[in-house]
Amino acid sequence: NDTRTIAILGATGSIGDSTADIVLANRDRFHVTTLVGHSNVDKLAARAKALRAERAVVADERHHQKLKDLLAGTGIDVAAGRRAVIASAAEAADLVVCAMVGSPGIEPAMAAIEAGNTVALANKEALVCAGPVMMKLAAQKGVRILPLDSEHNALFQVFEDTNRSHIEAITVTASGGPFRTWDAERIRSATLSDALNHPNWTMGQKVTIDSATLANKGLEVIEAHHLFAMSPDAIKVVVHPQSIVHGMVHYADGSVLAQLGMPDMRTPIAAALAWPNRYQAPQVERLDLATLSTLSFERPDLERFPMLGLAFDAMREGAAAPALFNAANEAAVTAFVEGKCAFSDIATIVAMTMDQALAASTSRPFASLEDVLSADQNGQRLANAIVDDQLH
Ligand code: NDP
Ligand code: MG
Repeated sequence: NDTRTIAILGATGSIGDSTADIVLANRDRFHVTTLVGHSNVDKLAARAKALRAERAVVADERHHQKLKDLLAGTGIDVAAGRRAVIASAAEAADLVVCAMVGSPGIEPAMAAIEAGNTVALANKEALVCAGPVMMKLAAQKGVRILPLDSEHNALFQVFEDTNRSHIEAITVTASGGPFRTWDAERIRSATLSDALNHPNWTMGQKVTIDSATLANKGLEVIEAHHLFAMSPDAIKVVVHPQSIVHGMVHYADGSVLAQLGMPDMRTPIAAALAWPNRYQAPQVERLDLATLSTLSFERPDLERFPMLGLAFDAMREGAAAPALFNAANEAAVTAFVEGKCAFSDIATIVAMTMDQALAASTSRPFASLEDVLSADQNGQRLANAIVDDQLH
């Protein structure tokens, strides 16, 4: 009997929506233990009922009473607060979907792995920050991290059937985002609504802005570095505006194997949730190459999109550098959303934060969860100070 128990952290977000679709399309294969949201309690309560979850947890404690009221009489347990979120990641489950956004997802992901739960990872920021610490814990606990991110899921699907010893390189594709064809001047003054106007994917606000700066691709390169133990020089990025080819693996004999699919997160989510089987994703439009007719590819432009180069620098630097890169980016994106800085300041803030942090730290340790969290806090603090005092 192939019923899996599944907990979904970030159940009220965009990945949460797609995950719910896959669970509902394969209803008898899943038993939902816990759903975690942050502030959207109405959606959390409705989803807990629709998925017949055992428990709903709201991270923001101010919504505890409202969640209780909404779920009164349903038999669904209710909890609130950050401790409850981390505890729910650590409860025994066949799969824990980590789909919170940003560094608040680090501790829950680590708690899930510590408890020996298989992790389906969308929250790339957690792996970027915790990198070697998370991979070491997963190896110690014998825990598999199944990637939900479309590019990594593509690579994972290709790797699955092959001998890993003759791989020369991997390629992650990038849509190029809404500013792919914009000149540097126009990008400098891009507005929030310009940045949120992604050509191919419908996603949460933070990852959409990261796609516009190409920080998302930078985070994904670091994610691939850890997930697949690939050296920085063996990780390639190619811009592919149609987002049909998601990832490619290059072999020593010149073969390149790729995974293709429509830009719809329900495909990689279904593949990860079913692994090593296959489940239905009936909602996904089927790929028809003759109708699409053209797939095109181009080199990323590191001058117009400096965040990608900064991410490669952080990956090569290693230790705390990726966590600092991520923390500065999270702070800068928040500042941009709040109207405190221009779009092009995001890269400036990140570059300044990295310079300041790396100049100040004479090889701080980076081996424990505490080290990861302190790098994250340090990066956020430095970046916020740059936003407040040093930007212009
Ligand atoms: P959304 O912003 O749509 O959703 C974020 C989710 O996290 C919501 O459920 C939100 O709750 C919850 N959340 C936010 N802060 C906290 C917190 N402090 N504690 C607990 N829960 C919290 O984001 P996405 O679904 O788009 O992205 C989620 C992750 O997946 C990101 O890391 C992103 O990079 C990654 N990803 C997303 C893709 C996509 O297509 N969307 C593709 C590939 C990766 P609430 O809404 O209730 O406040
Ligand atoms: Mg991706």
